[in-house]
Amino acid sequence: MSNASQPGKPPQEDPPSFDDIPIAVRETVVESKPKARSLTWLLWLGGLITIALVSGGSWFAYQASQVRTGVTASPSPSPSPIASVSPSPTDDRVLNHFAYPEAPQSELEAVSADDGIKMRSVAAKSFREMVAAASAEGVILNPLSAFRSISEQQQVYFNVKAERAQTLEQRALVSAPPGYSEHHTGYAIDIGDGNVPATNLSPDFENTPAFKWLNENATKFNFEMSFPRGNKQGVTYEPWHWRFVGDKASLELFYKAREFQQQASPTPSP
Ligand SMILES: [Zn+2]
Repeated sequence: MSNASQPGKPPQEDPPSFDDIPIAVRETVVESKPKARSLTWLLWLGGLITIALVSGGSWFAYQASQVRTGVTASPSPSPSPIASVSPSPTDDRVLNHFAYPEAPQSELEAVSADDGIKMRSVAAKSFREMVAAASAEGVILNPLSAFRSISEQQQVYFNVKAERAQTLEQRALVSAPPGYSEHHTGYAIDIGDGNVPATNLSPDFENTPAFKWLNENATKFNFEMSFPRGNKQGVTYEPWHWRFVGDKASLELFYKAREFQQQASPTPSP
């Protein structure tokens, strides 16, 4: 019986072994594994692209905002020159005197008849106009000393200090150390009264017609007294010493010192 039906039977003498099924299952699993890996890999790739796009977009947005606000992404190579400005007017003083640069000889011109006394051209012009205006009222403004080099100030400060046996501080009350005199700038001048020469470079100059005239008229010619009585800078009262403050350069040179012009303890108002 079995033989009669055998020819119709498919040749299954070797039924699938037990191991075949798991193999088939495994194959399915094995086949599905690459698919799963591909899918995971695609998801990772998509995620990475998304992250790259988002972060890239943020970077461009940041750069755009920096450009709008005028800030560059690269750090500044050097600090701003404004930041290097001295924060306090007292920082660069020596013995109460401010440091001043020496005016170039080429920018100086004479204000005296013998050409020995010189100022910067703009200050010299204004001084001559002031002399003429005073002269018209019978007052003689006599130039005594104006531009002084740093080496000349060396003599004025240290040699006289030694002769008079003064301390640095005592000397600095009446004379600036070399490099710290307003006379270096070519904008400062010591003025005497031509009719009262005995008061030259003396506090008594304040009693002369020349001083009275200067007090009333010097500002019209952009001159001001550098060291009024009781000035906060701590320099002895010098009624004969005036400085030109009538252009940008002189303003920039003297603006710090001007904060010390007024009296340290002004008389309280009633
Ligand atoms: Zn002087």
